[in-house]
Amino acid sequence: MRYLVTGGAGFLGSHLCEKLLSQKHQVICVDNLLTGFRENIEHLLSNPGFEFVHADVSKPIEVNGGLDGIYHLASVASPVHYTRYPIQTLKSGALGSHNTLGLAKAKGATYLLASTSEVYGDPLEHPQKESYWGNVNPIGIRGAYDESKRFAEALATAYWRMHKVRIRIARIFNTYGPRMALNDGRVIPTFIGQALRGEGITVHGDGLQTRSLCYVSDLIEGLTRLMESGPPEPVNLGNPQELTIREIAERIIRLSGSASRLTYVDRPADDPEKRRPDISKAKKELGWEPRVSLEEGLTTTISWFKQKLSMAHR
Ligand code: UDP
Repeated sequence: MRYLVTGGAGFLGSHLCEKLLSQKHQVICVDNLLTGFRENIEHLLSNPGFEFVHADVSKPIEVNGGLDGIYHLASVASPVHYTRYPIQTLKSGALGSHNTLGLAKAKGATYLLASTSEVYGDPLEHPQKESYWGNVNPIGIRGAYDESKRFAEALATAYWRMHKVRIRIARIFNTYGPRMALNDGRVIPTFIGQALRGEGITVHGDGLQTRSLCYVSDLIEGLTRLMESGPPEPVNLGNPQELTIREIAERIIRLSGSASRLTYVDRPADDPEKRRPDISKAKKELGWEPRVSLEEGLTTTISWFKQKLSMAHR
């Protein structure tokens, strides 16, 4: 099979490219490297099945030859970054989805949209099922991301209804693992970096807000299953184990053997209070559920960051 992966040099994208190549598929990776890194795909460049195109998906993209599937992952994905780049975020979700859906239509390819748990906003329903419509502030600092993904879901669904493009919509919940960017402000790289450097762990607010963390290999497995056999309606992908931010900080301190302490700082606006996926649909439709425990996933991630930091100091 021949796949296009947009955002292929990002955290999830690079793991996805790697998995598709290991299954002997051909992969075209498109990335504008705004928040992705060439370093994430450096080891794939010599693979004859792999092609990297440095391009912005918000501009029309041309691909020669056939395509079986498109994974549209290109997006600025961390709150710190989408607060800094709100226009690029909206453009990759809106124009980027339009361009890639047009390409899927022209090539007869199956289209998978990487959507997000952020479509639920600060949820009033808990845990979140796919049937929940969400509680989003369109003009808040998270609005650019949330609304770009909500628009992309609507656009993909319109292409399915009007043009019969086979679509998949993955609502991805917090995912972590190697290749997250150390300075993207997200909770896992930030806390691990602080723990390894022995700095204070910057807990936002009282730290009693919750998140549910999925290890990257589990998430990628869910994405490929969804591409192969999913329904056209949204499917939540994430790990239902819910933890407070304080608990996450304490686990990271313990697993990294750090002497860091918690430092309480201001909480950003519109930060969702709680988040946990109901994954019964993914279980039923895809036979999928996460397998990697938090202990195991965090241990692997901490050692990856440890190595990365030690290399940076050489
Ligand atoms: N958070 C925190 N300290 C940090 C970074 C994040 O307490 O240095 C909190 C943040 O307020 C949120 C949670 O961790 O409640 C997850 O934030 P992240 O940026 O990883 O992603 P989100 O789930 O909000 O999209």
